[in-house]
Amino acid sequence: GTLPGWDRVEQLVREAYERYRGHDDGVVADYIPVLAEADPAWFGLCVAESGGQVHGAGDEDVEFSVQSISKAFVYALVCEAFGHQDVLDRVGVNGTGLPFNSVMAIELHQGHPMNPMVNAGALATTAMVPGATPAEQWEHVRTGLSRFAGRQLELDGVVYRSESETNTRNKAIARLLQSYGRIEADPLQVVDVYTRQCALRVTARDLAVMGATLADGGVNPITGERVVSAHVCRDTLAVLAATGMYERSGEWLFEIGLPAKSGVAGGIVAVAPGKGAIGTFSPPLDPAGNSVRGQRATAYLSRTLGLNVFASS
Ligand code: GLU
Repeated sequence: GTLPGWDRVEQLVREAYERYRGHDDGVVADYIPVLAEADPAWFGLCVAESGGQVHGAGDEDVEFSVQSISKAFVYALVCEAFGHQDVLDRVGVNGTGLPFNSVMAIELHQGHPMNPMVNAGALATTAMVPGATPAEQWEHVRTGLSRFAGRQLELDGVVYRSESETNTRNKAIARLLQSYGRIEADPLQVVDVYTRQCALRVTARDLAVMGATLADGGVNPITGERVVSAHVCRDTLAVLAATGMYERSGEWLFEIGLPAKSGVAGGIVAVAPGKGAIGTFSPPLDPAGNSVRGQRATAYLSRTLGLNVFASS
């Protein structure tokens, strides 16, 4: 492979875990009520290599809701179905500089959702998922994300209900997009499919394998199954580099140099094209919504494994 040998990667993953497990900065998200019940000490990480080797440490097998990380993989599925230009025109690829659930960003751009990693763009993307009914769309999402992970992913019903009862802002965003003619389907049904996709249960290991599938040009390195095409992976990774880490996307790329996506339950996936991916999980977040331990561990592994995409050696 293009990474150092097996023993060295194992050692670095363990080192990253030991180095940051004691760090306790950050705050667990509570705007979705049930997320506040997460244990702030949870910390898991995993590296999946494009050759299929997997290295984990800590709570790598603890399940949590994928949340916004789903946006990256649903986007890939929609790019696969519609192609580069159509998705570019309808969803966009530019950062907003504003929080992920900003209504102001939509107003500032005459209803354009701007990019698929903010909620407006994610809702516009989910509205495009193939399927004749919301139930079929949801099945397409669940099956598609499961193929990325190489195992059957399940809905966390408790997270789904908790968010469904409190997601008034996402409903407002979907209505606003409808008012601009950006969503043709029933906006509340689009929000429902989106809320389900965010409530899929994953582990740090799943995130690493899902990311490694993007790193591998769309072929899952564990199952060998082709999930999406290589150019869909390229497009998805470009969007993650520009917009995957909320308002900190520029700083993240500057410091760590990898396309990545985070979610408010504490997951992060970072992808090294052609090499593999890092999945991390730890619930305490920085003010933008990115897991604090996850950022530190990913930075350490990007540096020590030599993954920064801008480095010439
Ligand atoms: N389901 C969450 C929401 O829409 C996802 C947020 C996130 O992870 O950024 O508010």
